[in-house]
Formats: sequence, structure tokens, C-alpha cells
Amino acid sequence: MATVVVVGGGVSGLAAAYYLQKSASKIGKIVLLEGAKRTGGWMQSVQHDDGSIFELGPRSLRPVGKGGKNSLHLAEELGLTKDILVVHRSDAAAKKRYLFVGGQLCALPSSLGGVVKTIPPFSRPLMMNFLGEPFAKRNSAPDESIHSFIGRRLGTEFADIAVDAMCRGIFANDCRQLSMRSCFPDIFNLERQHGSLIVGMLRARGAKVDAASELEKRATSEKWASWSLKHGLQQMSDAMETAATSTTLCEVRKDSPCLALAPALNGRIKVKTKGEEIIADHVMSAIYSKDLASLLPAEMSSLQAALQSIPSVSVFVVNLEYPGQQLPVEGFGHLLPSSESPHVLGIVYDSCTFPDHNRHDGPSTRLTVMLGGGWMDKMMTDKGELPDEVTVAAIAKKAASTQLGFPHDLQPSKVNVVYQKECIPEYTLGHADKLSHLESLIKSSGLPLHLIGSSYKGVSVNDCINNARIEAENVVHQL
Ligand SMILES: Cc1cc2nc3c(=O)[nH]c(=O)nc-3n(C[C@H](O)[C@H](O)[C@H](O)COP(=O)(O)OP(=O)(O)OC[C@H]3O[C@@H](n4cnc5c(N)ncnc54)[C@H](O)[C@@H]3O)c2cc1C
Repeated sequence: MATVVVVGGGVSGLAAAYYLQKSASKIGKIVLLEGAKRTGGWMQSVQHDDGSIFELGPRSLRPVGKGGKNSLHLAEELGLTKDILVVHRSDAAAKKRYLFVGGQLCALPSSLGGVVKTIPPFSRPLMMNFLGEPFAKRNSAPDESIHSFIGRRLGTEFADIAVDAMCRGIFANDCRQLSMRSCFPDIFNLERQHGSLIVGMLRARGAKVDAASELEKRATSEKWASWSLKHGLQQMSDAMETAATSTTLCEVRKDSPCLALAPALNGRIKVKTKGEEIIADHVMSAIYSKDLASLLPAEMSSLQAALQSIPSVSVFVVNLEYPGQQLPVEGFGHLLPSSESPHVLGIVYDSCTFPDHNRHDGPSTRLTVMLGGGWMDKMMTDKGELPDEVTVAAIAKKAASTQLGFPHDLQPSKVNVVYQKECIPEYTLGHADKLSHLESLIKSSGLPLHLIGSSYKGVSVNDCINNARIEAENVVHQL
């Protein structure tokens, strides 16, 4: 019977362990090694005594796409259905999204009426961009930056403002450096397959796919836009850990980092931990690619270099709570294009999106200000050091009060600052080639090493979980 080691207990590693133990007639032992004292990785929800919840990492999941549907199926299997908090497509938190441009909040259009007239910050009706899209010139290059792809198909102004801001919200980085092929593969392929994004989307609309779970059916019929959980998203990773360890097959070891990986006899892998060496038949790495590189022996320098070639950005996450209802508008939040303010990426209106996470003893406004990302250098002190927490909190408070027009004397009732180091891997131009190179290096090394996690094929929680499932099934198939 085989031994499988999973390195890393974020959502990717937990999902891998869960799916391995579900279909594991040929597995004798699954060991998940987590270096920290808790599992969940970036998925972390802080609950306060007054009932309020601050998300330090992901805060909502989308129900659509293969990954979205898979997460709903998983949530149902984990018994989380009763605790799901839904944002419907008709809710303000889904329909109303804003850009902060030219010192003012600009609502993005949420209906046809909004695209046929000129609305700030755009200089012409967005409908003009969409009407021209099917006739835009195709590009046959193997990869293209997001900015160039969207600029070519939907106009440079749209790319400069809306897409620039959106990529800061999702990837905390510059759309001029990110790969369209790797960050938005479905949209990239629409051009390949249909010659146009709009034509491709219209053709796909008719295609019916059978729902795999009751939750997926509900999400479709009730028109969900996004969802979270009663105790915050961490409830999902906690439930995965509980389910994975519900049998003696799987052991989750916390505060137990993997210290080294090396080839062992008969095509197996030696896994070094604090007090033990495990000989594994397969290792699933669910940690950042650069961290994996540091675990490999020096003679695997080509593989190390390939793993190190995937960069990442760091983000300051500042959670703020203000007394009373202070938001001037309802909605999901607002993003800033890099031309407006390089280091303030955007502000999420958490209290509007998930009011169930607000404190229970009176009205409050909860916000998350995201700072830094690909513009972290703009936040450095004169000595080239990171700013301290007090300075970061002051920057976040100033951004919130000026951009949302709060009274000058309004002080937050809670402030929480975290520096999330190297938290979002960056799929820069040529990322797909890096992955092919990595796969061929691993194949030629003969190591039964499997790569999952946000460094490779999608940074969203949905992608992380779905890719972990696919690879876990692949491991079981190889046994
Ligand atoms: C601020 C922020 C907001 C986000 N918002 C959203 C959102 O709203 N929706 C969404 O879908 N996605 C969001 N994301 C992205 C998503 O949360 C992450 O991509 C995803 O959680 C990554 O999970 P992972 O398991 O691949 O990696 P991680 O969460 O990085 O987990 C890796 C784990 O491995 C452990 N580890 C590292 N080295 C070792 C070692 N040597 N031995 C053992 N263990 C080790 C770490 O301690 C960690 O627990 C957000 C991310 C961030 C940072």
C-alpha cells in the first residue's frame, strides 16, 4: 500500500488530502505536512467576541466555471450547505462595483442603459467598444499581456482604466506584465476558437451542463453571484481538515515543515521532516514554487531554477471597522487604476457584501483596504524598508476617509494590519512555457512529484481546489 505525502496545508494541500482519502483503496497512508501551527494558508478568518469577522485572505468564491461548481460540490459534501451566505446577482454587492478615478467614485454600468451612454471615467459609451470587438484583429502569438489583448479587442482606454484596476483587484499586479493566456485562459481561448470574445460568449450561452450537486442547481436557479460561510471562508478549510482526518488513513501534522526532498530507491521520494524521514511513493507539493525549490537537492539545479522563475507579489491587508453606517454608496467595493494611486489597490465594502459578518451589537461599516502588490516599492521608507504597521494603518485610514468621504473626525473602532508576504504568484508572459518546462524536468527526473497550489494553474480558491482534485485523482490512477 502506497504512502502519499502532501506538503503544505493551505486550501490546495487540504483539498488534495481530502480527495486522496476519498478514493484511496490503494493508499496505505496520507501524511499532510504543514509548517505553521494552523492549516488554511492564506484562508484565514478572524472572529471577534462581538460577532464581527475579518478576512485576512480570500473573502468570497464565485459559483461559476468548472472550479466554482467543484467548490459548491465540495461544500455540500463537507456539510456546509446550511452555513452558506449568498450574494445574489440582483444584490447591490454584486451589481454595483466602482472605480475611483479623478478623485471620484465612478459606478461601473450594471445594465444595458449604462453602456449606451457615456459615463465617467470613460470618454465614450462602452457599447462602442463592444460593437467593434468582433471585428478586432486577431493575434496568433502564443501569449500576450492582458493589457495588450484587451486593448486590441476592446480599446486602450478600457484596458488602461477598467482592466488595469480589475487586475490590481485580482492579482495585485500590472496587467501590462501579466499573461492573458495563463490568467484568463477561457477568454484567451474564445478568440482562438471563435475569433471574437462576444461571439464566443453568445455561442456558449445556449450550452447546458447537468448540475453535479444540489448546491450547483440552487446557485443557478437562485442566480448566485458569490458566496461565503457563516464563520468566514476559513470554515471551508477547517471543514476540509476535519473531513480529511475523519479516518485513520490521513494524518495532518501541524508545526511540521517539510525540510528537504530527495530521490530515494525504486523511484520514491525521501521526505525530511523535523524528527523523521518518510519514504513516499508520491509527493504532492502544495506550497509556493520558490519554497519548493529550496527543498530540492543542489544537483536538481535546473528544476530549482524553473521553480524559482515564478515571481510573486506581497500585499498589505488592512481591515477597518467604523461605528455606524458610513458608506456613501452600496456595492462590492472600488478599485483604483494604477494611474490614480499606485500603491492603494482598492477597498472592499465587506459590511455591504456579507452583513452577517458585522458585529451583532449595532450598525457598523467593515472595509478591507488592499495595498502594495506590484507597487510595494512605492510604500518603502527612505531606507528601503517596509513601513511599520502604524504607518500602513494611517495610509489605509486616509484612503478610506478621502475616497469614501468620511467625516474627518471619524475613527475606526477596529484596525488590523497584516503583511501577506509573497501571497499571490504572478503569471507573467510566458508562464505557460514555464509550466511545460517544469513538467518535462520533473518527468525526466523520474521523481513522483506533483505540483499543485496557486503557483501554477490558477490563483483563485476555486482553481486551487479543483486542480488539487484533478492531481489527486491522477496520483490514485498511477498507483
Ligand atoms: C489577500 C488575499 C485575498 C484573496 N482573495 C481571494 C478571493 O476573494 N477569492 C479567491 O478565490 N481567492 C482569493 N485569493 C487567492 C487565494 O486565497 C489563494 O491563491 C489560495 O488560498 C492559495 O492556497 P494554496 O493552498 O495554494 O497556498 P497557501 O495558502 O499559500 O498554502 C500553502 C501552505 O503551505 C505551508 N508551507 C509552506 N512551506 C512549507 C513547508 N516547507 N512544509 C510544510 N508546509 C509549508 C504554508 O504555511 C501554507 O499553509 C486571495 C489571496 C490573498 C493573499
